[in-house]
Amino acid sequence: MKPENTFNSKESVDVGGSERIPSEMRAWEVTIPAPIDSSPSPIHFVKHPVPVPKTSEVLVRVISCGICHTDLHVAEGDLPVHHPHVIPGHEIIGRVVANGPQAGRFNLGDRIGVPWLRWTCGVCTYCRSGKENLCPNSLYTGWDHDGGYAEYVTVPEGFAYRIPSAFNSVTAAPLLCAGIIGYHAFRRANVPAGGRLGLYGFGGSAHLAAQIAIAQGIEVHVFTRGKDAQRFALELGAASAQGVYDPSPVSLDSSILFAPVGDIVPKALENLAAGGTLALAGIHLTDVPSLNYQNHLFHEKVLTSVESNTRRDGEEFLTLADRLKIHPKTTEYPFEKADEALRHLSHGDMQGACVLRISEG
Ligand SMILES: [Zn+2]
Ligand SMILES: [Zn+2]
Repeated sequence: MKPENTFNSKESVDVGGSERIPSEMRAWEVTIPAPIDSSPSPIHFVKHPVPVPKTSEVLVRVISCGICHTDLHVAEGDLPVHHPHVIPGHEIIGRVVANGPQAGRFNLGDRIGVPWLRWTCGVCTYCRSGKENLCPNSLYTGWDHDGGYAEYVTVPEGFAYRIPSAFNSVTAAPLLCAGIIGYHAFRRANVPAGGRLGLYGFGGSAHLAAQIAIAQGIEVHVFTRGKDAQRFALELGAASAQGVYDPSPVSLDSSILFAPVGDIVPKALENLAAGGTLALAGIHLTDVPSLNYQNHLFHEKVLTSVESNTRRDGEEFLTLADRLKIHPKTTEYPFEKADEALRHLSHGDMQGACVLRISEG
């Protein structure tokens, strides 16, 4: 069934007397995936028609959009193209400016968050057993569907989140993927109460997971290449911070690998105590070298990956982030400099997360 439009996208229209929606918007699109430093750049600043919300979707005017490592994987081609000329970005904060047919969860003007998980089927075995993150029919923002490096985006209303008022629209952006998926990884890592958790890599996701863990009395040890990132980890309350391949000062109950580097896996497994769990948090990982059964896996060590998140993870994380007063560290970039921000991310050694500022609240 072809969804009906709520308004004529050819013309600018008035929404509830509040905001006029233009017919065209500025956006960044991935042209031909290639290394981010190559010339011409794999992403281009272009004009696009403003999308039209379909059944049960809302149209959102984007205020800010966080920059995630996954955007880099999409731009560079580590993740295969799902939608040619896709607009990346899936840590979106914005205001609802139009409702599609049968959409009514939000009022016009509400501030909402648009995350990575755009849609799941609701009927497969995984969806029906509380594991919609494993739904084989799932769709993702900024990969299967245009994302938030744009002035407007649509989202199925059931997959958006209300954003706690304690967070401003720039600091809230990284909560939407870095935060939620970091939280799902934290749950997958199965840290015992008061236990010791290792974090490998210390970017947008890890610095939020660290705060959630420390606030719950867990001892956090950070392994990251950048000296600035190591200092930042200690400032946030980590018990230790060292290089990625340095020996761990203590035996760890659980670890999360955030860096997309398979070479770290054997080292991280060696640092685990008997019965410990290593969770691999990335959607993409370079090849894992061969493992030695005695050194890396025996003593009931558990090695698991982490795929996306459920909406329940999202709601739980946003509630916890508000209650535990989590502080996302952000560096703001103007909308026109998304390419520069992606290059900055690819070179590493940054504190927290980069966020594009796209419009005023
Ligand atoms: Zn992401
Ligand atoms: Zn499903």
